[in-house]
Amino acid sequence: MSEDSLFGLLQAADDHAIALRAPDRPALRHAGLRQLVAGTVARLNALGIGRNERVALVLANGPEMASCFLACACGVAAAPLNPAYRADEFEFYLGDLNARALIVERGSSSPAIAVAEKLGVRVLDLVVAEGAPSGLFTLEERSPQATAPATAGGYAQPDDVSMVLHTSGTTSRPKIVPLSQRNLCASARNIRQSLQFTAADCGLNIMPLFHIHGLIAGVLAPLSAGSQVFCTPGFNALKFFAWMDEAKPSWYTAVPTMHQAILSRASKNAEVIARHPLRFMRSSSSSMPPQVIAELEQVFGAPLIEAYGMTEATHQMASNPFPPRTRKPGTVGLAAGPEVAIMDTNGALLAAGETGEIVIRGANVTAGYESNPSANAEAFSHGWFRTGDQGQMDAEGYISITGRLKEIINRGGEKISPREVDEVLMDHPAVAQVVCFGMPHAKLGEEVAAVVVLRDGQQASERELQDFVAQRLADFKVPKKLLFMDEIPKGATGKLQRIGLAQKLGLTG
Ligand code: ATP
Ligand code: MG
Repeated sequence: MSEDSLFGLLQAADDHAIALRAPDRPALRHAGLRQLVAGTVARLNALGIGRNERVALVLANGPEMASCFLACACGVAAAPLNPAYRADEFEFYLGDLNARALIVERGSSSPAIAVAEKLGVRVLDLVVAEGAPSGLFTLEERSPQATAPATAGGYAQPDDVSMVLHTSGTTSRPKIVPLSQRNLCASARNIRQSLQFTAADCGLNIMPLFHIHGLIAGVLAPLSAGSQVFCTPGFNALKFFAWMDEAKPSWYTAVPTMHQAILSRASKNAEVIARHPLRFMRSSSSSMPPQVIAELEQVFGAPLIEAYGMTEATHQMASNPFPPRTRKPGTVGLAAGPEVAIMDTNGALLAAGETGEIVIRGANVTAGYESNPSANAEAFSHGWFRTGDQGQMDAEGYISITGRLKEIINRGGEKISPREVDEVLMDHPAVAQVVCFGMPHAKLGEEVAAVVVLRDGQQASERELQDFVAQRLADFKVPKKLLFMDEIPKGATGKLQRIGLAQKLGLTG
């Protein structure tokens, strides 16, 4: 089997090693997982669904979502969708994807089912037998259709589409990203290498499994390395430490807002942390304030590896290295898989220390957005993929993200990176979390605003925080409006959404 076969990649694991676990459930071994994947591919082929054909997954987070994703990615094209979507959103996504089937849990009342029926997409029930090992399932037709002829199908080939995702829609309407078997294999290998997984590792997956971060870093990469994954029903800061006690994990990956929520409960759970020393923690998908990295490393006594990922790169592009190599907080580390460079607006590559757009190329990068020639024309330039992120690389190759090109606040022509203002506010002792963003302004076009979450028991006025920023940054960068809230408003994948935040909060200028 070729090295760009996902099913081939799964063969490397020891048959007897545990693959999947879940709270209060028996474990599934790697041999069982492979059998399940092979059986599911054959079942889909028998239903007439073959390579490159999209199967939408609307499943709760858990071991079956993980194993069903793997099976679909090995033989057809997996299209995981956020189960929290409403009917209109399902209609958009199922139509946009040209889905051949929808897989839901038996008994599910997801609005996706009625939408699929309306669109003529067949619905398959995922059935879990009483007491079955974590991740084991069978597929049954919800309403058997006139049988389509079986397809020869088999395992996907290197250039077949293996999964289809939409970008998070942070900066624009979500775009469809097809990722090939080759892309997934390359990314799994890159992450395995960065995180040095072995069969002795157990990952605690708290990331949603409809997003690239959880699917690839949380599930595919560790399973392909023969290690085990403990699948939770999704992030819950109140349950995190009980899961830690049950799973005895060696690592976990999360977005910064989750790490912050975990940190806020850490002092009450010091004994659990002491009982289960972690090999490392990993953060990706949004920027991690250096103060939070320092606190986490201190509390858990393990390194925090900050990485840089995006849907179009099948997740990982860069990662901080493990000790004894230097981690540089405030950077996303070194290129970790694809080549990474900094480009100016004319397509010329820039030298160390110069600021421009971060560009990438490599086997884990998508061949292009689907049915979106204008997005592709914008995204690919001189053989590189433009990430839309602004940043720089230092002389040692460490990459810093200084902003997202589309998030830059334009205050009457003065460009302000909201991250720069965030970083200053994070240095104030009363501030736990912050997100700065542009709000409409009649004369200037945009003006700086911020949502601030204060630390427990701490006080600070709008005026005091404005003065604090003014001591460090030019006046035009000082937020004109500060909103104090209990938490930072987030998008579905748990990341900060600066674009559209002003509108969401009713700030009309
Ligand atoms: P859309 O492309 O639809 O606007 P999105 O870019 O947020 O949405 P994703 O592919 O989920 O969708 O996210 C990738 C982006 O997340 C990167 O381009 C980058 O801006 C940001 N990101 C990822 N990791 C980090 C990190 N460690 N630090 C800062 N930003 C990060
Ligand atoms: Mg993006």
